[in-house]
Amino acid sequence: MNVPVPAVGTALVSGGSRGIGAAVVRRLAADGYDIAFCFQRESGLASVVERDVKECGRRVLAAQCDVSDLAAVQGFVSRAEGELGPLDVVVNSAGIVRDSALVLMEATAWTDVLRTNLDGVFNVCRTVGFSFMKRRTGSIVNVSSAAGVYGNATQSNYAASKAGIIGFTRSVAKELGCYGIRANTVAPGYIATDMTDGLSDKVRRDALARIPLGHFGKPTDVANLVSFLASTQARYITGQVIQVDGGIVL
Ligand code: NAP
Repeated sequence: MNVPVPAVGTALVSGGSRGIGAAVVRRLAADGYDIAFCFQRESGLASVVERDVKECGRRVLAAQCDVSDLAAVQGFVSRAEGELGPLDVVVNSAGIVRDSALVLMEATAWTDVLRTNLDGVFNVCRTVGFSFMKRRTGSIVNVSSAAGVYGNATQSNYAASKAGIIGFTRSVAKELGCYGIRANTVAPGYIATDMTDGLSDKVRRDALARIPLGHFGKPTDVANLVSFLASTQARYITGQVIQVDGGIVL
């Protein structure tokens, strides 16, 4: 008879149906975490990720939840804690782009990106913060971007949201460190996902020319770092921004 191996903890991942978030879900499941993850609309892809977590022998909750909606996030977190137990790790990976030249940018392209990418991180961290404080533990990993560190033409909305994540995460690290809670940011460069699939040949060529390692990263390159930051191996690391970008110079 197979005796289930106890989980090393419970992790919540936003944006877990595709790309970097899906790689993080799979990696943390392989690390031994039970997983709650949310997505916006790709329920078919989410089912595949859900199946992969179960195949690792871990428990999983996959749910549609718009991270820009605080009430929806509160409902999702409460369901996750009810079904899987208290959370130990939170990874905010949900994000969107709506690229545009500044002078042509629709107001909705600004607000949609800020609401998903930045409000979404606030909504999740705000919701889990109190229970992390009560249990005097917790690791938060927020996914920013090299664009949030350096800026990027036609991405003023996206870069603002991602720079906001950096300031937010450093502040959380300072505010909650005394409760044993760590908060770090990962800042990927160009990673091969749906988000970068639509880049024009010219943008892709120009990007590759600026990456010393000469190729885009894989979602697992980011997931490996998230796994480390989530783990106790990173117990003395907080408030950091770590780039996974092949050495890109913007
Ligand atoms: P992706 O392949 O487009 O996946 C985005 C994920 O976010 C999907 O799971 C999507 O759900 C989810 N999502 C979007 N809006 C959401 C919302 N309002 N509520 C809940 N979930 C939502 O993107 P990715 O390339 O993996 O990017 C993941 C993160 O890394 C993002 O924060 C992105 O800004 C950041 N990043 C990516 C790159 C890159 O080169 N790929 C570089 C730097 C930073 P559905 O599948 O249901 O739509």
